[in-house]
Amino acid sequence: MIKAVDTHCHLQMMPFDGDREQVIERSLESLAWMVVIGDGIVGSADTLKLLRPRIYGTVGFHPYHAAEYDDDAESRLEEFAGTPGIVAVGETGLDYHNEFAPRTRQRACFERQLALAARLRLPAVIHSRDADDDTFAILRDHVPRLKGCILHCFGGSVDFAEKCLELGCFISFAGNVTFPKAELLHEAARRVPPDRLLAETDSPYLAPQPVRGKRCEPQYVLHTLQYLASLKSVNADTLIRQITENACAAYNLPPVSLLSAPDECP
Ligand SMILES: [Zn+2]
Repeated sequence: MIKAVDTHCHLQMMPFDGDREQVIERSLESLAWMVVIGDGIVGSADTLKLLRPRIYGTVGFHPYHAAEYDDDAESRLEEFAGTPGIVAVGETGLDYHNEFAPRTRQRACFERQLALAARLRLPAVIHSRDADDDTFAILRDHVPRLKGCILHCFGGSVDFAEKCLELGCFISFAGNVTFPKAELLHEAARRVPPDRLLAETDSPYLAPQPVRGKRCEPQYVLHTLQYLASLKSVNADTLIRQITENACAAYNLPPVSLLSAPDECP
């Protein structure tokens, strides 16, 4: 049976400092692979240290850190991106809910990273919170030049999802889609076609409903996958197989079915 994957987690972050290797071991027992997502210079450098078979990574600047993005930061990211196992640029985007950097700085940082992703021929991982219109305006200009685009921890409107699907983006849902009151997210997840749907944990954040409030770990993606299957009224194994295939396509990784043993995953 094809195993699930976690397309977005932050195992480099502090909440895992006490037991990171145990968490990794547990996660890799349940999952085929996972992607650790960089969120700034330190977070991206720490991501590089975790790369190994079945753990891929990304390098990028979260909008929270947009004010620190400059030429020097960009050349560091470019250098990091040459490390084998780095599969995307991100997460990058706009966060108007937590406006930790001015909006103009966020937009500039976002556009520069999308241009970097295009130059490096890598997909981009996008964070968008309370910024659908501006995120879409920027994506519309850049996505045609990208090797792929993933809207992570989707939290926007159905209309935003549909416009991003038209651009060719994948849409990824995190544990918050399992929350009973998240009706708009449920509707968005129902509308995303099966071949464009992804699931993630965004660990250590947003643990799904059965483990809500706990530190999130990558293997909890299985709760989110089960929930997505029930939302879409499809068989869970079928959905897991499809989402794992989508994840390989989104990150330009070989299909899991072609790997003779998960440990041999490049
Ligand atoms: Zn994230």
